[in-house]
Amino acid sequence: MDIRIRGVSKYYYSEGKTIKALDDVNLTIPANQIFTLLGPSGCGKTTLLRCIVGLEMPDTGEISIGDDVVWSKDRNISVPPEKRGLGMVFQTYAIWPHMTVFDNVAYPLQVRGAAKDRIRESVAKTLRFVQLEGFEGRPATKLSGGQQQRVALARALVAEPRVILFDEPLSNLDAKLREETRKELRAFLGKLQITAVYVTHDRVEALALSDSIAVMRSGQIIEIGTPKKIYFDADHRFVADFIGRANLVKARVRGVEGGYTMVDCGLGVIACQQRDVAVGSEATLCIRPEFIRIVGGEAPAAKNLVNGRIESLVFVGEAYEAEIRVGDEQLLAKIDPDAKLDEGDAVSFTLDPAHCLLVAV
Ligand code: ATP
Repeated sequence: MDIRIRGVSKYYYSEGKTIKALDDVNLTIPANQIFTLLGPSGCGKTTLLRCIVGLEMPDTGEISIGDDVVWSKDRNISVPPEKRGLGMVFQTYAIWPHMTVFDNVAYPLQVRGAAKDRIRESVAKTLRFVQLEGFEGRPATKLSGGQQQRVALARALVAEPRVILFDEPLSNLDAKLREETRKELRAFLGKLQITAVYVTHDRVEALALSDSIAVMRSGQIIEIGTPKKIYFDADHRFVADFIGRANLVKARVRGVEGGYTMVDCGLGVIACQQRDVAVGSEATLCIRPEFIRIVGGEAPAAKNLVNGRIESLVFVGEAYEAEIRVGDEQLLAKIDPDAKLDEGDAVSFTLDPAHCLLVAV
């Protein structure tokens, strides 16, 4: 089931000030995808999710889920949350500690007055799905954090919602468990064929989980794309910078040569992925630390060969993180942990043009 959001704005009023939490958001969330809303704290992710759920009323616009308009300011439509056919998993597990696993998961069906047999069957099926078979009688508090999160997922799924929404569901788990639960969740959702909307400010989580990511800032959607598109090929500097560590270098466009867009910058003349940008215009060259390749021995003549000096070198296990000085620019590079290098060494490195990305200033 797809979700269409048209012209949605939401204002809050606090201490005499108006806060524009959502600023004319237009967005289509495709059916059966894991779609993530990603952005810094306060950018409006939760507000947008709450508008889809029906826990907030937008000030303008329209929201449809499948063929049903669930909110329209102009047409005066407001479908209450429980009638929108949604399941929701929150940041806090929000499962009831005094209840057993069975009762927690059965709850949404019980409040709808479902028959006892149907409840037993649906709960059993859902617990099997989230791999908690045999835990029915266990008090919810006697479960690990990851298991509690699976109970919350089971409770959101038991009534077979059209769409499932997640608000930072993993942020209370420790780093290792978060990684495991993320993998599980991806596998569960992959099997379900359901539209999932996922809110997070954790870029790695967004990259690892999503089919598509919408990056938000100040109540607006800045860019939408697959994780690879957003990471390797963002259009906006803010997005390139937010989604991963990036060296951002001021550049001026020289023109196109041999299928590359050539720029002048503090690193010299650099060949970049071709972009449709005007000659003479300013742009930002974005280079991820992992695409700076140190060249050993006699440096061969290569495209984008740059000379610099290592200012600092920190061993972080899987790599060295090196700060390399080139004139007025300082670049962060991730280099081979076996490299025989020291702080102060002169180095040559290459930048693969395919990974030299030009983004709007
Ligand atoms: P976080 O990642 O910190 O949860 P977010 O991107 O989910 O942030 P929202 O919670 O949607 O952001 O908030 C968007 C903006 O609206 C923020 O400036 C926030 O302070 C403001 N806001 C949210 N809820 C209210 C409220 N009930 N009253 C007043 N302002 C609010």
